[in-house]
Amino acid sequence: MTRLFGTNGIRWRPDKKQDHNFSVELGLAIGTYFGKGNTVCMGRDTRITGPVISAAVASGIMSAGCDIIDIGVVPTPTVQFGVKMLDVAGGVMITASHNPPEFNGLKCIDNDGTEMARDNEEKIEDVYFSKNFQYAGWDEVGKFKVNDEVSFAHMDRISSLIVPNSGWKKLKVVIDCSNGPAGKFTPNILRDMGCEVHTINAQPDGMFPGRLPEPLEKNLSGLMDTVANLGADLGIAHDGDADRATFVDEKGNYINGDESLALFAIDSLDAEKGKVVVPVNTSRKVTDSIIDNGGEVELTPIGSPIIARRMKGIGARVGGEGNGGVIFPENMLCRDGIMTAAKMVEILATGDRKLSEMVSDLPDYTIIRSKFKCNEKLKHQVLDNVKKAMTDFEVIDIDGVKIEGDDWWVLLRPSGTEPIFRVTAEAANPQMAQDKLDEFKVLLKKIIQDLA
Ligand code: MG
Repeated sequence: MTRLFGTNGIRWRPDKKQDHNFSVELGLAIGTYFGKGNTVCMGRDTRITGPVISAAVASGIMSAGCDIIDIGVVPTPTVQFGVKMLDVAGGVMITASHNPPEFNGLKCIDNDGTEMARDNEEKIEDVYFSKNFQYAGWDEVGKFKVNDEVSFAHMDRISSLIVPNSGWKKLKVVIDCSNGPAGKFTPNILRDMGCEVHTINAQPDGMFPGRLPEPLEKNLSGLMDTVANLGADLGIAHDGDADRATFVDEKGNYINGDESLALFAIDSLDAEKGKVVVPVNTSRKVTDSIIDNGGEVELTPIGSPIIARRMKGIGARVGGEGNGGVIFPENMLCRDGIMTAAKMVEILATGDRKLSEMVSDLPDYTIIRSKFKCNEKLKHQVLDNVKKAMTDFEVIDIDGVKIEGDDWWVLLRPSGTEPIFRVTAEAANPQMAQDKLDEFKVLLKKIIQDLA
């Protein structure tokens, strides 16, 4: 069946031809799924198409008989917080997260505040594709209410979880808010935590004039320079909807998301031993750190909704992905870039080491990623044959096929949207990582040739 939802919601490039009807019908499908008489919490990021898409989706949801509580321009985790706080049936966030300004998108939230489970998304897709919409009568259409308390309550929640004391060091912090909704949140919270706060790209602006919204090293030269020039202790960068945060150390060096995730895992295990939930493509910088610090690695397929759900009920200490998306269960079972920023401040303000020192103590591994073409019809057979060929190694097949060596691993994962395998190799040094990548590409080529 054709899908609407990808790993993290729906993304599209709105244009004159199709957007309005698509958004209204999407709203009708979502409203039909939640059901007449229920309430949906709704927010949007700063994109300039946000108001028009939000209004159209809300129109569809209300036409199906659901009320809307609109909480305005907010980070995605604020909608997730709002669903629980308001005790409503679910949520909708209009965002394209880290995508460029011309894109927009939509994420649905389940009533427990987690990103919607795949089987519920399928129910919405069923309604959408069958056009089997439930229309409310004129006297049953949903109401539209505005609420500005959820934002403050979300900030209060984080402030209540991370409380500075007189022993905290006063940190100088630079926050790059990506011209997204984080500008109203992270600077205020960190200032209340006693930091000297400097901001860049803090004004909400859906054109993203400061930088592209993905918090990758190549987009963060402004932040790295500012941290170094100001002699700051820490730089923080959010993505477009602030469910993620990545960091820059006191020298102005970019810290990748695997490294910060490893630091969060170590910090949480210092407080109490337990499980840390990470996807199968996570660096050994993270998984070795978990084991070295007395924790247990819980591996999942790729996708933050899956990680969040796995954390439920197993007493996980923390969970997350190597892209800066971290889930702290004491906060909520969702990625929260503001909580992630506040937590890093806590680690640095209460410890005696600088960020660069902590990162340089992490296990040394190099990760490289590549692609390999493969006919759609052959993908499953190819993976089966790779598994059969790997008699001497541990194979993990929860999402694609991962082959574990002593000081290396390789993950072969079929793309859901393109006729390719994504090939990831990590090893104890760059040469070995490249060799392993090449070796498995040769193997893939041979297996594909034999099948053709
Ligand atoms: Mg995001």
